[in-house]
Amino acid sequence: KLFNEIQELKGNIRVYCRIRPFQPGEDEGSNSVEYIGDNGELVLSNPTKQKEGGKNFTFNKVFGPTTTQDMVFKDIQPLIRSVLDGYNVCIFAYGQTGSGKTYTMMGPEKATEKEWGVNYRALNDLFNISHARRDMITYELTVQMIEIYNEQIRDLLGGGGSQKTIGIQNTMQPNGIAVPDATICPVNSTSHVIELMQTGHGNRAMSATALNERSSRSHSVVTIHVRGQDLKTGNTSRGALHLVDLAGSERVDRSAVTGDRLKEAQHINKSLAALGDVIFSLSQKNAHVPYRNSKLTQVLQTSLGGHAKTLMFVQVNPDVSSYTETLSTLKFAERVS
Ligand code: ADP
Ligand code: MG
Repeated sequence: KLFNEIQELKGNIRVYCRIRPFQPGEDEGSNSVEYIGDNGELVLSNPTKQKEGGKNFTFNKVFGPTTTQDMVFKDIQPLIRSVLDGYNVCIFAYGQTGSGKTYTMMGPEKATEKEWGVNYRALNDLFNISHARRDMITYELTVQMIEIYNEQIRDLLGGGGSQKTIGIQNTMQPNGIAVPDATICPVNSTSHVIELMQTGHGNRAMSATALNERSSRSHSVVTIHVRGQDLKTGNTSRGALHLVDLAGSERVDRSAVTGDRLKEAQHINKSLAALGDVIFSLSQKNAHVPYRNSKLTQVLQTSLGGHAKTLMFVQVNPDVSSYTETLSTLKFAERVS
């Protein structure tokens, strides 16, 4: 409720920064990020360049390193549930590789229920609510999972991690399904939720080992489609939730890479820039929004802009060795917020 009210005033784009904790073996003394309580402010500084001073940023919210998965989910639950009322919602995780994007969206490897990321929790929550309301409204929940790698789309729920690449039919289709050729799975229980997530994640991880950490160089998109019908009035609604674990935003040294790596880097730069441009033009309320510049923005077109709602998790690695990447991450986030 509160989220919706704030959004009416501020437009439909929010940016949350999440600082991941230092991991075992990392040096907590080399911290570059300070955040100040609950007001969304953060200061990035480089101890080796002290005369430059700290750089201040303000976002809608900053989650510090002790924030749990449950705290994050509680905060965004109203946004997620608005899908049941027919809204289209996109949630992104942006940041360099190792900054916690997958942790936020999916959870760590072999996550316990406490460690579940947004994907599991969202699907589970929507399933539970739709089940609880079944005497008033029948909801149909279906899931698609795709990966976008080098501007090609791959179905993550197609049996055996099929390498078949698929096209975008028509983003304005009346059923709101932009990638009709990607497997569409109905969700019918909580254990089924877990199974679906693991299938999709497994197919992504499979390619990661085989293709050298490819998962950090592809975007993964989990889409939950919701169709509701009010049993009394017969009114129907349709909403979609897109949960996007973006490719790592790190700048690749163009002089040091060639061939496939260079091509990958160029595709990633291009698609992240295209996403930034789309969100920026929406935040400026521009008449023209450049959706056509990447596969990612084409797939998400009907869920970016209009009445749709967008949330970007800007993921930060607090180590000073990441200072330059963190600075460019925060600048990207500042532009779209
Ligand atoms: P990315 O997807 O951005 O490459 P990961 O999500 O894989 O980053 O995170 C890198 C490492 O840090 C992983 O081992 C992950 O489990 C851990 N990690 C990230 N965020 C958190 C967090 N909030 N709490 C605990 N561990 C985290
Ligand atoms: Mg990842």
